[in-house]
Amino acid sequence: MAAQETVEHKYVYDFAEGNKDLKDLLGGKGANLAEMTNLGLPVPPGFTITTEACKAYLTTGREPDGLAGQIEAHLESLEREMGRKLGDPDDPLLVSVRSGAKFSMPGMMETVLNVGLNDRSVVGLSAQAGGNDRFAWDSYRRLIQMFGKTVCDVPGEEFEHAIDDAKRAKGTDNDLDLDADDLRGLVDSFKKIFAKHTGREFPQEPREQLDLAIRAVFDSWNAERAVVYRRQERIPADLGTAVNVVAMVFGNLGPDSGTGVAFTRDPASGAQGIYGDYLANAQGEDVVAGIRNTVPLEELQRIDKKSYDELLGYMARLEEHYKDLCDIEFTIERGKLWMLQTRVGKRTAAAAFVIAGQLVDEGLIDLDEALHRVNGAQLAQLMFPRFKLDHEFEPVAKGIGASPGAAVGKVVFTSARAVELAAEGEPVILVRRETNPDDLNGMIAAKGILTSRGGKTSHAAVVARGMGKTCVSGADQLDVNIPAKKFTVAGQTVNEGDVVSIDGTTGKVYLGEVPVMPSEVVQYFEGTLDPEQTDDPLVRAVHRIMTHADATRRLRVRTNADTGPDAARARRFGAEGIGLCRTEHMFLGDRRELVERLILAGTDAEREEALAALLPLQREDFIEIFREMDGLPVTIRLIDPPLHEFLPPLEQLAVNVAVAQERGEDVAKEEALLAAVRRMHEENPMLGLRGVRLGLVIPGLFAMQVRAIAEAAVTVVRAGGSACPEIMVPLVGAVQELETVRAEAEKIIAEVVGDSGVEVLIGTMIEVPRAALTAGQIAEAAQFFSFGTNDLTQMGWGFSRDDVEGAFFWRYLELGIFGISPFESIDREGVGRLVRIAAEEGRAARPGLKLGVCGEHGGDPDSVHFFHEVGLDYVSCSPFRVPVARLEAGRAAVTTTGSDSR
Ligand code: PEP
Ligand code: MG
Repeated sequence: MAAQETVEHKYVYDFAEGNKDLKDLLGGKGANLAEMTNLGLPVPPGFTITTEACKAYLTTGREPDGLAGQIEAHLESLEREMGRKLGDPDDPLLVSVRSGAKFSMPGMMETVLNVGLNDRSVVGLSAQAGGNDRFAWDSYRRLIQMFGKTVCDVPGEEFEHAIDDAKRAKGTDNDLDLDADDLRGLVDSFKKIFAKHTGREFPQEPREQLDLAIRAVFDSWNAERAVVYRRQERIPADLGTAVNVVAMVFGNLGPDSGTGVAFTRDPASGAQGIYGDYLANAQGEDVVAGIRNTVPLEELQRIDKKSYDELLGYMARLEEHYKDLCDIEFTIERGKLWMLQTRVGKRTAAAAFVIAGQLVDEGLIDLDEALHRVNGAQLAQLMFPRFKLDHEFEPVAKGIGASPGAAVGKVVFTSARAVELAAEGEPVILVRRETNPDDLNGMIAAKGILTSRGGKTSHAAVVARGMGKTCVSGADQLDVNIPAKKFTVAGQTVNEGDVVSIDGTTGKVYLGEVPVMPSEVVQYFEGTLDPEQTDDPLVRAVHRIMTHADATRRLRVRTNADTGPDAARARRFGAEGIGLCRTEHMFLGDRRELVERLILAGTDAEREEALAALLPLQREDFIEIFREMDGLPVTIRLIDPPLHEFLPPLEQLAVNVAVAQERGEDVAKEEALLAAVRRMHEENPMLGLRGVRLGLVIPGLFAMQVRAIAEAAVTVVRAGGSACPEIMVPLVGAVQELETVRAEAEKIIAEVVGDSGVEVLIGTMIEVPRAALTAGQIAEAAQFFSFGTNDLTQMGWGFSRDDVEGAFFWRYLELGIFGISPFESIDREGVGRLVRIAAEEGRAARPGLKLGVCGEHGGDPDSVHFFHEVGLDYVSCSPFRVPVARLEAGRAAVTTTGSDSR
């Protein structure tokens, strides 16, 4: 019998074996090092241990079988290539051990440099470096320090204190004044610290150092800060990290050595040119630590022209190859340039658009690809006003940019004061240590929110984003004293009433009023900035990409608008109709009194009188909207909220009645109102007498609205315009509800439209789970469905939409139950499944059934991709989100992977 051959799983790849598309397996850094190696760029030799090895280690707690042998084999070939052996006493090979996950997680995981140094090879390293003892001992102390801290959890401060002691003994405060002897002494101290904390000597065996360092990088995938970062950035927790083992090259060997970073274009504006920093005689970590000042990259031309020219050549090569902005880390070791890292570089929202446009011009990418390279979140960011910052304005603090925008106002420290001042027309910034649900009214009243504690998922951040309000959270330089109504920062005291400016995009806080600039992108959408005439590269790029998105998308984009001006603005922003006109907003203000009459009507005649008074007002509302939307579909929803929402609150009425009685005034009307409010009180109004239920129990209410809609349409058409009304019934859960409303509506419509040619569609919202599950039946009676994903989420999850985000979502986000509020981005698996079922069953029953969505999710980038996938005809969103939805609908049509431009 032939021996069964077992094929060993491959866990280690030489750089020459990988490529840039293997990010899942080799991580971003490893895949790109492999790509550069294969392009023939000077990458120090090395190998990558795969994410699969990491995952196997994290699951079982030990290195998978075969890994040790594969590392050995790759190490040997690395040694052959370099002509040196790891830790050789006379001529040592040293390696760096670096993490590298699929998505960049800057600073979240571990790195150990100079692996291979020990008491003997430190002497060999000095000889290698031309007798540079100082360099060799400095490298050794760096190894013990990094290894101790990251591999063995030795407290970092102990090493820092030892360095401080050495400097004090020398009478200096500059690290560079420590000479070789001082550093040798420091190595002794470091070894003692190491032994004290670990109970063992610092490992002298190079291979043991390597294995422990690799293990520490694996473990760092689950370090707390990495876990928190992943949750925030929505990076899946099960990807694992790869580990790169790379031959060390040194930028700190003298003036002909150095290290730097470079960008192939400006990552802030997208402008072409040479951008980067260089630091002579230094290692990468010195640049990051900011110990010494870097010089602009152009200076390298003067310092080392040969390396500079070579670098520029590689930069051009990488751009052409990656067809995108690349960022690069490099080191020069005694006049020899080494490429240590490249990746497609992060950029600002503006740069993303500008660069995508440039790359199309340069013929490197096509418009589909350009569309894929930008996203709706970036576009939304560009639509916020920004601060006009010149040199006069220096931030006094920097927190977390928790909810974008630029807000200026007077500082207040309590919710009550915020409400008071805002009522007087003053813009206010609510400053708290952290907010809680009691601050809600103040947050609503304020222009912006500033807290000294809490991250991107703190209460303040989550609630502010939900409201679209500017928020800076966790500005911990602020010492906030609520009882004293002041905070101190950078040695200054800010009292209640003083003006501050906060930037919710950058997290920066300024004292005084910083002027705010409108967004040029909004001016373009508004039609006041002509993209053909301007030389603003951003506006030109946005125009070009939006034009392509519109030409590409399958989803139509409508707007949620209840007034003529909103409808007009949305139309300028590209809305192709109204997907939701909420008629209840038309019953507020001075019309409240008519609604009160309707509610209090004791007889049919009184009720009919109130409805008759409302009819012409409603008709005028609809005429205005039809005119603005001339020729485009307008979905008007019949009244939805419980009627008691239009009455004054119970407490207020009770007080009014009591006071008036005390004064002997006539309180008949207030008493009647109070009785009505008591009678109509509901424990769960969102599940009570609302939506279609109102139409079924209050005679004439829906009929009045239907008549107003039909009459308005006829008026507009007879005046030469065009009106396409679609009447939508809210909160339907059973087909019988819809059938009843429809029968009455059709009679009225037939009577009103006569031969005017007006056609009125009748459809329903799908926002109750039962409606989604019986969509096949409901479709028999509906000419269209519009998904009300706000209520569908509320009832699908059982989350009160008005309460939960502020009350406990921060905890759900912290626990990772969801990565984002399901009210913000559709829960694909649960609520999304209801949408999918209803779409499929609705269309099966009525082929061609028109499907749309009008919940808040209609303007959310990720949700737009979902609605595209499910096959809806349109999304509808608030006017300001219309451009975002247009862009994402275009992106959805050219990609199948969702909005993944991370
Ligand atoms: C919805 O429920 O998604 C919806 C659009 O209706 P409203 O938000 O008015 O309840
Ligand atoms: Mg609803």
